[in-house]
This record gives sequence, structure tokens and C-alpha cells, in this order.
Amino acid sequence: MKLHWETKILETRWAWRIARGAFSEIRYHYITLEHEGITGYGEAAHNGRYGETLETIGEFLAKAKRVLEAANPCCYEPLIGKIHELAKGQHAAKAAIDMALHDWAAQRLGCPLHELWGLDPARIPLTSYSLGIDEESVLVQKLAEAEPYPILKIKLGTPDDEAIVRTVRRHTDKVLRVDANEGWTDRELARDRVAMLEEMNVEFVEQPLPADRLDDVAWLRSESALPLVADEDVTAPASLKALAAAYDGVNLKVMKVGGLLRTLQMIHTARSLGLKVMLGCMIESSLGITAAAHLAPLVDWADLDGYLLLKDDPFQGVLATGGQLSLPGRPGIGVQAAAA
Ligand SMILES: [Mg+2]
Repeated sequence: MKLHWETKILETRWAWRIARGAFSEIRYHYITLEHEGITGYGEAAHNGRYGETLETIGEFLAKAKRVLEAANPCCYEPLIGKIHELAKGQHAAKAAIDMALHDWAAQRLGCPLHELWGLDPARIPLTSYSLGIDEESVLVQKLAEAEPYPILKIKLGTPDDEAIVRTVRRHTDKVLRVDANEGWTDRELARDRVAMLEEMNVEFVEQPLPADRLDDVAWLRSESALPLVADEDVTAPASLKALAAAYDGVNLKVMKVGGLLRTLQMIHTARSLGLKVMLGCMIESSLGITAAAHLAPLVDWADLDGYLLLKDDPFQGVLATGGQLSLPGRPGIGVQAAAA
């Protein structure tokens, strides 16, 4: 099997701002795995929050190249296990390889990826559409752009949270979800914000407090009426059991947990622990989003909008008409290069 990778630059339509920072351009590694005339595609949408950079991803891919060259992609399950053992972390690089292997295997069998798992695409929930942190005039423009999408996810974790939500609520009565991205630093502040959000008819709150503060999250849950969903707190499969004692649900992302296979395993583990499951994403292209969308029939909430926030998506695959994700019918993940 031959592994190649190259860097692509993605630009966002608006500067993407959340509680811990902002960017409007990002570079990721994109890989191909070729074997027997079939090419599988993968994306490594790395995230500095988890100690990943373009360089660390490149180093990991160089290490994995030797293992992949000697391997048979038909047996991708044990091969992905071997890739995970090569180094700690670097989950976006592992996700790219896992994604390309799944793409290859499903193309080889001639079926769309979800058929490999026996999933029914009619069960994919509506995706939310995310609004980054911005001043009121920009938020209003973004709300107009978000018109086709019936569910909105607002980023909070700022001193202006109440003003942001009031602005959004003045313009829409759509379903609203909130992501604080670890932005509320103490539990009393978080309790007050969640109470305000309940009054604003918000559906649930994601990652209210910094990660690794599960006792405070459990206290917050006892004080609050809205469901709490872990995101930055979710890392390895083994973290799920402890999370179930503090949270109502988990946001699983293919890039964050290290691939489709591990996401699939974690969806089932989370369910067995009584947790609700959201399938989320980074800012990423249609490649990563379409790969994840093949798993979406298994989850309660989809937040697979990363490619909708891009100015220049290099791929085309899943569509999100009116928030309803529809998968391409082609074999594998089913993406193609975007028309020039
Ligand atoms: Mg989040």
C-alpha cells in the first residue's frame, strides 16, 4: 500500500472565533492510500488544543508509512490498532489513515461506507449549524446566512454571552444549542449562565467548564435543568465511564478520538453507559465531514457543519439541504475533488 500526503489551505467564510481563540485560514494534511488500483482518501484536521500541529501530524504519517507499506488494507481492523500503538495522541493523523482505509475497503467491496456497517441513512438526524463568537452586526448577517438550517449551535464563553443569546433570540425561534468551549471558569458562573440559557429556551449546553473538572460538572448538573454534553472532556474510550457520572451526553468527533472505527466503538460504549451521543466535527472539508456522516445514523444529535463554514472546500460529498445530511451514493466515502 502506498501512502502519500500533501498540505491544503482552507479559508473560512468568516473569522472562526470560539472561547479560546480565532482563525480564518488553516492548513491540514490530506492523504491518499493506494493499493490494487483503488485510492482511499483521508483528512487530518488537527487541533492545537490536543497538542497537534502540521509538523507533528507529518511526523506521525512518516512513521505510519513504513507500517502501511507492508500491510493488507483488507484487514483494516487490526491494522488500525497497530497505527494507534505507534504513538500517543496525534488523533487527527490516525483519523486520516483510518478514514482512508475505510474508504479503500468500501470501494473494494463496491458499496457506500455506511453499508459496510449496515446503517440506514434515513436515520441521520438534522445537523446543527454553528455560529462563532462575533459582534452583533456580524451575528445578524450570519443568522441570515443560516436561514436554511433549522437548528443553530451558538459559541459562548465570553463576558457578552447574555447579549449574544438575546441577539440570536430576537431574530429566531429555532432550536438553539450552546457550546461554551470550556469558557466558564467557575461553577457558580456556569450555573448562572445555564439558568439564563434555560430561560432563553436553549436545548442543551456543551463543555461548560474546563476539562478535567468532573466534580464541578456533576455539581452543575445537580443545580441545572439543561442537559450537559462533554466535548473537550472526551478523549479516549476509557474516559467515557467517568463522564457518565457527570454529563448527560458526549460529543464524539472522528478527528478527536482518532478515526471512524474508534468513534463507532465509542458510540456503542457511550450508549451502554446511558449517555446521549452527538457526532461533531472540527472546521474541516467535505472529506472528513462526509466520512463522519456515514456514522451519523447511530447518533442522537449531528453537528456536522464544518465544511459549510468554508470559503473554498476542496472536496464535494455530503449535502446538508435544510440541515438534512444526504450521503453520496458512490462506493466508499464517496467524495470527489471539487470542480475548479
Ligand atoms: Mg464543542
